[in-house]
Amino acid sequence: MRALRRFTVRAQLPEQLAPLQTLATNLRWSWHPPTQDLFARLDPDAWDRAGHDPVRLLGEIPSARLAELAADAETVVTVRELADDLAAYLSGPRWYQDEREDDPSLPAAVAYFSMEFGVSEVLPNYSGGLGVLAGDHLKAASDLGVPLIGVGLLYRSGYFRQSLSLDGWQLEHYPVLDPQGLPLQLLADADGAPVHVEVSMPAGRTLTARVWQAAVGRVPLLLLDSDIEANDADLRGVTDRLYGGDQDHRIRQEILVGIGGVRAVRAFCRVTGHPEPEVFHTNEGHAGYLGLERIRELQTGDGLSFDEAVAAVRAGTVFTTHTPVPAGIDRFPIDLVRHYFSDTLLPGVPVDRVLALGAEENPSMFNMAHMGLRLAQRANGVSRLHGAVSRGMFGSLWSGFDAAEVPIGSVTNGVHGHTWEAREVTELLGDPAPGGEPAPGREPVPDAMLWALRNTLRSRLVDEVRRRVRAAWLERGASTPELGWTDHVFDPNVLTVGFARRVPTYKRLTLMLRDPDRLRDLLLDPHRPVQLIVAGKSHPADDGGKALIQQIVRFADDPAVRHRIVFLPDYDMSMARYLYWGCDVWLNNPLRPLEACGTSGMKSALNGGLNLSIRDGWWDELYDGANGWAIPTADGIEDPARRDDLEANALYELLATQVAPAFYERTDGVPERWVELVRHTLGTLRPQVQATRMVREYVQDWYAPASRAAAGIIADDFAAAKELAGYRARLNAAWPRVTVSGVDASGLPDTPVVGAPMTVHATVDLAGLDADHVCVEAVVGRVDESDDLEDAVSVAMKHVGGTDGASRFEAVVPLPHAGLAGYTVRVLPAHPLLASPAELGKVVLAG
Ligand SMILES: *Cc1c(COP(=O)(O)O)cnc(C)c1O
Repeated sequence: MRALRRFTVRAQLPEQLAPLQTLATNLRWSWHPPTQDLFARLDPDAWDRAGHDPVRLLGEIPSARLAELAADAETVVTVRELADDLAAYLSGPRWYQDEREDDPSLPAAVAYFSMEFGVSEVLPNYSGGLGVLAGDHLKAASDLGVPLIGVGLLYRSGYFRQSLSLDGWQLEHYPVLDPQGLPLQLLADADGAPVHVEVSMPAGRTLTARVWQAAVGRVPLLLLDSDIEANDADLRGVTDRLYGGDQDHRIRQEILVGIGGVRAVRAFCRVTGHPEPEVFHTNEGHAGYLGLERIRELQTGDGLSFDEAVAAVRAGTVFTTHTPVPAGIDRFPIDLVRHYFSDTLLPGVPVDRVLALGAEENPSMFNMAHMGLRLAQRANGVSRLHGAVSRGMFGSLWSGFDAAEVPIGSVTNGVHGHTWEAREVTELLGDPAPGGEPAPGREPVPDAMLWALRNTLRSRLVDEVRRRVRAAWLERGASTPELGWTDHVFDPNVLTVGFARRVPTYKRLTLMLRDPDRLRDLLLDPHRPVQLIVAGKSHPADDGGKALIQQIVRFADDPAVRHRIVFLPDYDMSMARYLYWGCDVWLNNPLRPLEACGTSGMKSALNGGLNLSIRDGWWDELYDGANGWAIPTADGIEDPARRDDLEANALYELLATQVAPAFYERTDGVPERWVELVRHTLGTLRPQVQATRMVREYVQDWYAPASRAAAGIIADDFAAAKELAGYRARLNAAWPRVTVSGVDASGLPDTPVVGAPMTVHATVDLAGLDADHVCVEAVVGRVDESDDLEDAVSVAMKHVGGTDGASRFEAVVPLPHAGLAGYTVRVLPAHPLLASPAELGKVVLAG
């Protein structure tokens, strides 16, 4: 007989062991080795049966064993000590509390919205890098004491699990998760009734969700779940899968995470007494409707107009964009948005204003990234290069400005050290010092010890590869007697290269197969062989991606090479860990500049893995010539096939002539050059790639200013929001008539030399605006043949009077460069509540 549904009953723990419940449900165990060791010791077999999932473990341990443990003094003491340690971690002051003592304007709370969260494999609520980054953000915030509240959806089937057919085609499975068996707790009112969050759907329907809370150390993560009886069948399915449905399904998910998410935060703060967030951070555009819900709150609760509410919302919102691929931007047909927003979803919020927030080049599409940028006063990309690419990509929202002036900054992603670093690395090196020097009081580690560490980690990976290859073949339909060879797959002494990531085209999974003979030669080299692990999931709707996977699998199935190259199905956090620990080289060959940041290479670097990568994303700024290798890019080459040829060729060359020799040249068994690269990587990259570095940057450069702006704008009954909205209205009315009518630089010296003063005068028709409501700037720089200004310096001009609507301005500008120079004059909005002069995307140029 088959069960209709599964559910999990939690064990009744003896009183002495009761703290195990908190130790198992607070996800801090996932980055705390002593707690993991405790779970493993309780019942090693049950721990393995439970797939190293503490909540499952507690259900697996037989009650006789529990009684035995409860009678064992040592176990009871360890449980209590670890529970005390967790309690101290959860309540004591940390970095943020110190910072806030010096700067009370730091926010009391920040809400962090994301469509996916990869905190741990026991909560499979992510598809790839975006979710794992969000998980690392929460964990680092917890370590630093940053008062974050995470907000997302709980997917009944998460993302899919991947297996392979016999002929190497990706198959997808969607195991159903039981929230009762996950480290989650329902958000409930004081009287114990589950909190329900509602959002209106068209035709008078209501989408209701309950709210699960996960504890990520100190950070609560709220996950909305629509699979409850109160909902119509189709609405129950809103949170069924991550990235699994059509546009209609997706917009419902985004309405739920954004609008429902804000309502869940409000309920959470009401029920728990947690301070209300002063800053809202949206990780990618998916949750952008959160801004509309906050506009509604301000309109209905505080009596603000739409424009005043926009001003207030923008001040406290940070938007992080993650994709430099235009096709990767989240967009909806405008009619679909109208369908959902015309009705009672957000009473009082005019639908035409909503639609204008998502306007883009194509008038029939609604662009979530554009809305994200319009509803956030602060926006950033996720590496320096990606910041620059984003300024170009979204430049149309700030037309008239040079790309460099587009107000999108960058925070380079980081990874959570204690999650991704093998414990042996931490034991050997201590926690990384920010400057890269050895931790205080520690002697430099001898070469032989570093090398032994790398050998240990590689060896563990090889065992894991064998286990997984065997399991994968059994799943593909092979029988045990045929699989003897899998015991000898890979060699713990061979140079091991890893390549694992999702499989969109730009990541070029199959670049390594460009010249199959060349690859085969590298793998089978009699003296300096290479072994290669490939893994990654293709989006279920992307047959192109599945075909790429199949190409790799077919190549790796060849008995001549199958001991040196494997494709491991079902890449997820539990597999990824072994790869980051054990691979000697982490390979990444995206089509530059389409990788926004990339974080897997950072996780490899934490463990002394050396990156071999195209200079894209984070590697563009952190490659220093001695921490790995940069694959030269053929950026300028238009023909994609030729570009692939050139870059693949460069990759083979590097492997054969640089990487393999450094690995195999030994002195007394130790590859000295290799160990030097490893040492340098651990010394310099390890501190820089930490998620705590990233979260500190967000706090100092993004959350703090957003919190100050938000506090300023809501003070005195929203006086500043009203002032700013009024200013924008006056500006909008006058702007089309603002003109620069005369520019004169008669003050130019006869023989201009660098640094000589040039006096510029301008006459401007301000169309009724006050002179202090604008900034008139003289701009001087180099010019090329087309008179485009470069390396320009701008100087604010002084208002020196005026008559009859003509205001005169003047400035003295020291000539900044030698050579061909040019100048112009421009008018910009100026208001103390603007974060940047480009913010409103308004500029009037002379001429
Ligand atoms: C880190 C990680 C990723 C992201 O890797 P990229 O380098 O950004 O492609 C994807 N999946 C898992 C499981 C990860 O741990």
